[in-house]
Amino acid sequence: MFGTMLYGPGDVRFEERPEPKIEKPTDAVIKLSASCVCGSDLWPYRGANEVTAPLAMGHEYCGVVVEVGSDVKTVRPGQFVVGSFVISDNTCPHCRFGFQSSCEQREFMIGAQSPYARVPLADGTLVATESQPEEDLIPSLLAVSDVLGTGWYAADAARVQPGSTVVVVGDGAVGLMGVLAAKQMEAGRIIIMSRHKTRQDLALEYGATDIVSERGEEGIARIKQLTKKVGADSVLECVGTQESMNQALQVARPGSMIGYVGVPHGVQFDGQSLFFAQVGMLGGPAPVRRFLPHLMDLVLTRKINPGKVFDLTLPLADVAEGYKAMDERRAIKTMLRV
Ligand SMILES: [Zn+2]
Repeated sequence: MFGTMLYGPGDVRFEERPEPKIEKPTDAVIKLSASCVCGSDLWPYRGANEVTAPLAMGHEYCGVVVEVGSDVKTVRPGQFVVGSFVISDNTCPHCRFGFQSSCEQREFMIGAQSPYARVPLADGTLVATESQPEEDLIPSLLAVSDVLGTGWYAADAARVQPGSTVVVVGDGAVGLMGVLAAKQMEAGRIIIMSRHKTRQDLALEYGATDIVSERGEEGIARIKQLTKKVGADSVLECVGTQESMNQALQVARPGSMIGYVGVPHGVQFDGQSLFFAQVGMLGGPAPVRRFLPHLMDLVLTRKINPGKVFDLTLPLADVAEGYKAMDERRAIKTMLRV
């Protein structure tokens, strides 16, 4: 088969790869129904993470099980499944505590920008649907695997409550999913920081009540003004830069929570400022597995449509253009037809 490899900054290749096969009795092999490019794939693509050896790209996936190892009990060939971008056993103390992304057996999914992929720890990682989902639901089910699960975790970690005021920092795909999540959690006010018209429009569609297009100090001042100098009850930090983290900290009211899901790059904290800010922070890689059954149900019953975040769809063979379009911000998120 042909799959996606990243050789270095800007160097995405669609090339001959070995067919995935069962390597351990706990593995499954799936045929992808669709794949996509993640915002986090752009870190190595842009050279922000060093690439020392070619990487098998892709960690967001849904599809049909083609083969399972001898120990796999909860999924079988022919079933449609969605899994988390983090491989987990779903039985260790961290998994049972709801933090499957810190599983004692944690692995990160790789190689999903391909027609077939191997999923380790299939019993713990995959959730099957009762029947084959309708074709038009595939983009939304794919979104559950990471981008929605991550936006949802940001809102959950920030303890969004009915009626509360939420600020979302970042208008990438995860930020937009954070808006969707906050709306589902019945936030009263959802303010997103965004400077891009297409992203603003989608944010409004997903439930944002206010758009702040100013950045930095001006953006912070605007949010203070919108919240009568109080700040937000919950802040979703969905970027991972020093600037975005500063914005999150400065618009969070005392006693509030920041859910931070942007992978930090060069972010530093000042102990004194953090001490006097009196805000709580919970973040990290999203424990998507915790939310999978609920989010899949919301999609299958057509209560949410996270798949709209894919505003560019390309054949898998054109994956390099998918990266480029996201890097140049011509696309929010690229879906790849397999
Ligand atoms: Zn575990």
